[in-house]
This record gives sequence, C-alpha cells and structure tokens, in this order.
Amino acid sequence: MSELKRCPFCNGFVTENEIDFGEWSNMWSISCNDCHASTGNHFKKQDAIKAWNQRPYDYDMPAIVRRVQQLETQVTALLVLLDGFRNADPYMEFSQAWQDADKAGLLGFLTSCKQPE
Ligand SMILES: [Zn+2]
Repeated sequence: MSELKRCPFCNGFVTENEIDFGEWSNMWSISCNDCHASTGNHFKKQDAIKAWNQRPYDYDMPAIVRRVQQLETQVTALLVLLDGFRNADPYMEFSQAWQDADKAGLLGFLTSCKQPE
C-alpha cells in the first residue's frame, strides 16, 4: 500500500475517491480535501495514487499559487483602470480603481506608461 503525499498546493489532506460507474468497472481518483486539486480518473487505484504522488514536488507550489493570485489581482485592477480610461473618467486618478491598482503594486508600471509632457 503506497502512502499518499499531502497536497502540494495547500498541504491539505487527501482522499481516495472510488467512482461507481454501475455496470462498468469503477475508477479511482485522488483529491485534496481543502483546495480540490485532483488527479484524473484511473482504472486502478494504484495508478491514481502514483499519479497523485508524482505531482511536481520540485516546485514550490504554494509560491506559484500566491504569484498567480497576485497576477489575477493585478489583471483585475488593470481591467478596471482601462475601463475608466476608455470612458474618459476625469476622476480616475482619485477613484477606488486607482487605489486598488496602488494596492496591487501597479503604480510603478503605470508611471512608466505615462507619455512625456
Ligand atoms: Zn490542496
């Protein structure tokens, strides 16, 4: 019996799922109880366990997740700002959108995008 590693994304505990296909043969997957990361479905339980345990542990997955979340926040803030620019909102620089962009660490980037006077 192979031991299941904890979730590489959130360090959560995982569950072996047996999927009942009725008259068809059942399949197996492994999933995280917390963030719902999952393997695909496998005919053999051992193959599902192997797939789960082969996740790329050489990478700092929580760091990658944090970076993706940061990028999502920045993209969201930029989309809101872009909407304001498109609508020629004169109060743009004092708006919530601008504060959100500041919080997302975008002021340096926005300054670099300014046209010379
Ligand atoms: Zn997880």
